Amino acid sequence: MSSARILDGKALAEALLSSIRVKVEQMRSKAGRAPGLAVILAGEDPASKVYVGNKSRAARKCGFEVFDFKFPSGASLEEIRAAVQKCNADSLVDGILVQLPLPKGMDSEALLCLIHPAKDADGLHPLNQGLLLRGRPGVRPCTPLGVMALLDLAFAPQDLSFGSELFPACDLSGKQAVVIGRSLLVGKPLSLMLLERNATVSVAHSKTTDLPAVCRQADVLIAAVGVPELVKKEWIKPGAVVIDVGINRLESGERAGKLVGDVEFEAACQVASAISPVPGGVGPLTVAMLMHNTCSAWLRHAALA
Ligand code: NAD
Repeated sequence: MSSARILDGKALAEALLSSIRVKVEQMRSKAGRAPGLAVILAGEDPASKVYVGNKSRAARKCGFEVFDFKFPSGASLEEIRAAVQKCNADSLVDGILVQLPLPKGMDSEALLCLIHPAKDADGLHPLNQGLLLRGRPGVRPCTPLGVMALLDLAFAPQDLSFGSELFPACDLSGKQAVVIGRSLLVGKPLSLMLLERNATVSVAHSKTTDLPAVCRQADVLIAAVGVPELVKKEWIKPGAVVIDVGINRLESGERAGKLVGDVEFEAACQVASAISPVPGGVGPLTVAMLMHNTCSAWLRHAALA
């Protein structure tokens, strides 16, 4: 029985983080300061606390200065807005991350719009989204960037090993890509980034009829849904490259508490040519891309890029 190549997001993220660390060491004296990342967390969501902890740790490992803003769930939107505005005005801050989701009732859209586009480390400001739509340079969102890095790895010549830089950008001309999910955070920007690489892109979602048939067309199948193990082996075209963005914790059954993706991993390995695991796939790369975006902003702010 054939078995897919496992796309090791953790190793790729480590390679990317160490290249950022080296860049920071090289450029720090020219810039006159370290890159600054502001991390804003509101509320007590346990998953958000873990994500924010991972991001702050990675930033410190890269030699960044981290500015932590933590608000209890009872904090007002006004207090969080004030923190964003303070960071916008602070010349030591290059990137601002507002961890989503915000506590219920808070308008995350309004808050994301308040972040200065040049400090929008997550690439979710409407200006940066518009630049992506127009195919112009701008800050790209971290999770779709992570997916693209995994595709670059999947399509890179096999004899290329992890270097100090990412793999060359893959060209997806002639390939059918199917993205399941149309969120602003993942599905929509990712579909545009796949178009930039010349893929023929379909976006499937909760209203798509016959999702299995749509998926079976895919040379590149990306699941960003949030439904545990939705994608079955029979939905996958033999030889397809599968990227699993989903992060789901099983709540019941024998495997309760286990973290799984949106794809039935073991079964999918029998048909796909390459697949990203959960955990250890897109997740670590999302963190690494946040550092990449912040480092790039730092170089631009210091007029070194
Ligand atoms: P979302 O809830 O905003 O969007 C989910 C999308 O899936 C929607 O567009 C919806 O139409 C579609 N959908 C829902 N049920 C479906 C079904 N049965 N069939 C087909 N489509 C369906 O979620 P999101 O923010 O895009 O995140 C998606 C998943 O990715 C979640 O599991 C999330 O935890 C994970 N995620 C992971 C990372 C990472 O770093 N690895 C980052 C962001 C999100």
